Formats: sequence, C-alpha cells, structure tokens
Amino acid sequence: MSQSIDWANLPFGYMPTDYNVRCTYRNGKWGEIEVSSSEILNIHMAATCLHYGQEAFEGQKAFRCPDGKIRLFRIDDNAERLQQTCRGIMMPEVPTELFRAMAEKVIRLNERFIPPYESGASLYLRPLLIGTGAQVGVHPAEEYMFLIFVTPVGPYFKGGFATNDYVIIREYDRAAPLGTGRYKVGGNYAASLRANHIAHEAGYSCEFYLDAKEKKYIDECGAANFFGIKDGKYITPKSTSILPSITNRSLQQLALDLGLEVECRQIPEEELETFEEAGACGTAAVISPIRRIDDLESKKSYVISKDGKPGPISTKLYTKLRNIQYGIEPDVHNWVTVLD
Ligand SMILES: *Cc1c(COP(=O)(O)O)cnc(C)c1O
Repeated sequence: MSQSIDWANLPFGYMPTDYNVRCTYRNGKWGEIEVSSSEILNIHMAATCLHYGQEAFEGQKAFRCPDGKIRLFRIDDNAERLQQTCRGIMMPEVPTELFRAMAEKVIRLNERFIPPYESGASLYLRPLLIGTGAQVGVHPAEEYMFLIFVTPVGPYFKGGFATNDYVIIREYDRAAPLGTGRYKVGGNYAASLRANHIAHEAGYSCEFYLDAKEKKYIDECGAANFFGIKDGKYITPKSTSILPSITNRSLQQLALDLGLEVECRQIPEEELETFEEAGACGTAAVISPIRRIDDLESKKSYVISKDGKPGPISTKLYTKLRNIQYGIEPDVHNWVTVLD
C-alpha cells in the first residue's frame, strides 16, 4: 500500500495508518502501553472530555532523513508542554519517559508510512489526552486515556517557501488573558474556528489576534506564534494567552546563534509597520513568512514584505532549523532524537 502513496501531493489531513498506541490512567496510575489497530475509541457518554473540555493534544513530526535514519525533534519538550497543560486543566501528567516510549513505538510500528526525504512530506504525530471517566457535576475525571496516532502529511510549502497575508480579527478572541491560551487544549481551537472562517472567506491565509484585554498588542497568528525581525533583532510577543511554541523557542536560539538579539516583549500593533520581516511559526510550517497584515477596522495595511518574498533572515532561520531536523547540520543544542 505504501508503494501507492503519492507522498509529494499529500494534504495536511488524516490518512489511516496501521497502529496507534494507548495508555490508560486508572486508580491513580498509568497502565501498560497498548497497541491498537482500531481507529475508534469506545468511551463513556458522560466522559469529561465530551462535556467539560478535559482534552489536550500535542503535535510533532518524524522525519526520514537523507542518511536513511528517522529523526524526532525536541520530543521531551512536547512531553513537558503536555505536562503544563495537564496542570492547567486538572489532568494527571503523562511522564516524559512514557510519552517518549509511546512516540518511538508508534513511529516504529508505522514505519512504512514515513514519507521519503525527497518528497518533503513527514509523519505527523498526534498525542491526545482525554478525560474518559464519567462525571455529571463539573469535576476532573478519575480516568484518562493517553494515545498517539500518526498520519503522513504533505510538505507545507508545495510551491516552495512563500509569504502569506493575514487579517486582524477583533470580534473574536481565541483565549482570555488568564484563560487557557497557554495550554494546548481543543477549546482554544473551537474558539478560533469562526475567526478563522471569516479570514478565509475574506481571502486571507489566516486570522491574526490582538491581546484580548486591550486589543493593542500582538498575540497569536492563527494557530502559530508571531515573530518580527528588525535592526538585527528577533522580536516575539510576551503574553499570558500565547501557546509556548517549541518552534519559536528553537528559532530564538538559532537567532542568537546567528548573532541577532532576541526580545520577548509586548508588541503594539503599530510596530508592525517597522518590521523588515515577520513570520508565523509552528511545527506545521516551521516558518510561514508574512507578506501583509490588514486591519479591516482601522483600514490599515501593514506591508511587511515589499517584494512579496520571504526575507533573508527568515529564510536563513527556516533552512537552519530544517537542516537540524533532517540531520544535515550538526545538532549542537541536543534537540534531535535519532531512531535507527
Ligand atoms: C501548537 C501551537 C503552536 C505551535 O507550537 P509548536 O510547538 O511550535 O508546534 C502555536 N500556537 C498554537 C495556538 C498552537 O496550538
């Protein structure tokens, strides 16, 4: 079957694979890792994930590299972020060793679905933690399921690394200042669907959020973090409602390595017009460079890329991170796990 997959034309979507791995939390402890070939979960209708949003997820990719090996990027950081999310919405923490063991196992079990290096495609891992115990009152569940499934996904940039247009949406917030924006929970995505739809209908690649309280500062860029480049600086918003992106953290380190300064601070909307380059960052694209951000309310249009092309520093950061993920450049920060 894998012979017939058109790797280079895969969408970012779901395709069935052979196995997923699961682990149940019951009586205060995690059980054994189970391997399943079913795509279906059989859960209680009063499960807390269905009613009270006890649901958290992660996103990660495994790469088939030019040396033939499989590499995973900063997997322990995903485990730690899930643990932060667990503390945020009262779920038991998945230990890093369990997270890692399950990730490695599900990749090996589905090795035939890892796209070849040349295709630019990769194997996406979706770790998911849900409250499965029944509750009718608003309480955390007593039982949970942690699972990881994988699905091959196509290259993000089908026509090569390119810029996109964004639109500031003020009518909807994805998260409150002291809400769940900093946790990777499904509810934030539910809250973003309408703004995302409005942005797409208006012909933009994605919606752009200002801080929910004052509507003055840059918050998130759709489901990705924002960064801007100017005067030899990599500048990214500091906010309590932003999801701490591992890609952003990696880019900050690489920016320092390139001799840039890194600033993590509030960014007023008007500062957008001063950036030489800007991008959205996350696992899906690494960097999605920004051409223009429109504010429909104030009728302002912040044109960041004058020639419509990705800037030189964004391109350098993107190439550097991809090369580390693919084992092409040395992994000096110890980010990569090699599975052979
Ligand atoms: C997952 C996610 C990101 C990106 O995080 P990475 O660890 O870089 O993949 C950014 N913003 C939101 C809202 C997210 O859910």
